[in-house]
Amino acid sequence: MEKLKEKILTEGRISGNDILKVDSFLNHQLDVAFLNEIGKEFAKRFEGKKIDKILTIEASGIAIASIASQHFGNVPVVFAKKVESKNLDKDVYESEVYSFTKAKNYTIRVSKRYLNKGENILVLDDFLANGRAAIGLNELVEKAQANLVGVGIVIEKGFQDGAKLLDEKNINLQSLVILDSIENGQIKFK
Ligand code: 5GP
Repeated sequence: MEKLKEKILTEGRISGNDILKVDSFLNHQLDVAFLNEIGKEFAKRFEGKKIDKILTIEASGIAIASIASQHFGNVPVVFAKKVESKNLDKDVYESEVYSFTKAKNYTIRVSKRYLNKGENILVLDDFLANGRAAIGLNELVEKAQANLVGVGIVIEKGFQDGAKLLDEKNINLQSLVILDSIENGQIKFK
């Protein structure tokens, strides 16, 4: 997606040799019109697939999935929660995820009410690094005996192992852009 590459080159900031910050449009401030373009592109990538629900993870996935949903016939968006709360039903599907950015494990959970057997689920998220978040979301889908249609990612970091991991599980991965490297302050695309 050329527009996304341009946006990353003009607004992205690099932290260390492996973190790309896109706070100006995706992870803190939201560029709604641009997220709408992203949603349209996801709809193109998964055209012809039956999708009953979009599953994502809080926090950044929520905006992406909500706007994308409007290009998938307004299907419901379910987001996995990272923090336990009294508001959440006791009956949940859970999975452990290792966070690349926080360097620690955390549990994600979705109420059993909102993921049902036989539903066709599209997973959407902002970044793919080592694939742990995507695999954790896939585990929730499996626990619910639903079907994973695919995983849509806004920015894949091609120099990390996420795509390989999803490929080993035969998961249909659609990344809107793939970074080749972000070393020495230079962003290169595949
Ligand atoms: P993974 O689970 O694939 O290892 O990492 C993906 C998750 O980590 C994403 O949901 C995202 O929140 C975060 N993440 C990984 N790498 C980056 C990065 O370079 N920049 C940002 N902003 N988030 C990242």
